[in-house]
Amino acid sequence: MNIEHSQNEPELTVIIPAFNEACGILTFLDLLQNALSGCCADFEVLVIDDGSRDETWPLVRDAASHFSWLRCLRFTRNFGKEAAVLAGMRHARGRALVVMDADGQHPPELLPKLLAPWRSGSAHIVAAQKKCGSVSLMSRFNTYTFNRLMHALTGLDLANASDYRLLDRSVVNALLAFPEKVRFFRGMTVWTGYSMVQVEFEVAPRIAGTSQWSTGQLTRLAIIAITGYSAKPLSMIFWLGMFGMAAALLLFLQAIYSWFAGTAVSGWSSLTVVILFFGSANLLGVGVLGAYLAQIFDEIKRRPEYIVGETVE
Ligand code: UDP
Ligand code: MG
Repeated sequence: MNIEHSQNEPELTVIIPAFNEACGILTFLDLLQNALSGCCADFEVLVIDDGSRDETWPLVRDAASHFSWLRCLRFTRNFGKEAAVLAGMRHARGRALVVMDADGQHPPELLPKLLAPWRSGSAHIVAAQKKCGSVSLMSRFNTYTFNRLMHALTGLDLANASDYRLLDRSVVNALLAFPEKVRFFRGMTVWTGYSMVQVEFEVAPRIAGTSQWSTGQLTRLAIIAITGYSAKPLSMIFWLGMFGMAAALLLFLQAIYSWFAGTAVSGWSSLTVVILFFGSANLLGVGVLGAYLAQIFDEIKRRPEYIVGETVE
């Protein structure tokens, strides 16, 4: 197939956030080029180096000087995958945009299937869904819990969702117009309400290296996702308080009764339970308030989401 690389508005931009992916990134770019040249005549690939501490940047920069379809930019430090995806969306020129992991877990062979519904005009978003059973039991449990919680609290159904998805230019523009600093890409795309179809895929093993997400980072992402999309935990504290009032009222009646009946010392254990329960409920409530406060704090500082150190066009 004849590959052209126009300066403006290619059909497709592939965005690849990469953090410490030196071992596998060149292999992956090879696979990606093969897949792309078979299904798209006019594309560009945009690698965002999220402050890697290994050889990722020199490797990608050298590759960019050989391949006209490859552009890359580098953050001054690690700002996180969400920031890298945002930078990719801001720099992308394509009429459609695909976000893919740099580790080969998002198979490039799926690209024609992502492109087809968009080309035929039947969807603005084509989301690749992980097939069940393709990831480890532990991560399946975590994802399941997270998705159920997310669905219950926000109404967004993110079951089996991955960040591997194609977005039409109109969706990208809508996302870029979001003023918020703290972002959750997967939730935001669903939230826009643009027409979406899903395509299944098997999560491939990593080409090389290990996943760079720490449990702390994942927990933070989960808290951001929930507090960014739902105020329900706040109203849950309110209802917990109401429940506490009702329980206290019952206990008060019981106390009066036992005073009259002359058995006032009984009830020690129930009292301990109640104190423990509402003591921890208080702390939990303060913690939930803290999570929202932290979110507001981060938003109100209006800091840039990332800082670009170097770009190669
Ligand atoms: N990544 C990133 N910044 C980070 C962590 C990860 O840009 O701080 C990239 C990483 O290079 C990869 C993608 O995000 O391309 C997914 O990361 P990973 O494979 O570690 O996570 P998982 O496959 O477990 O979702
Ligand atoms: Mg991965």
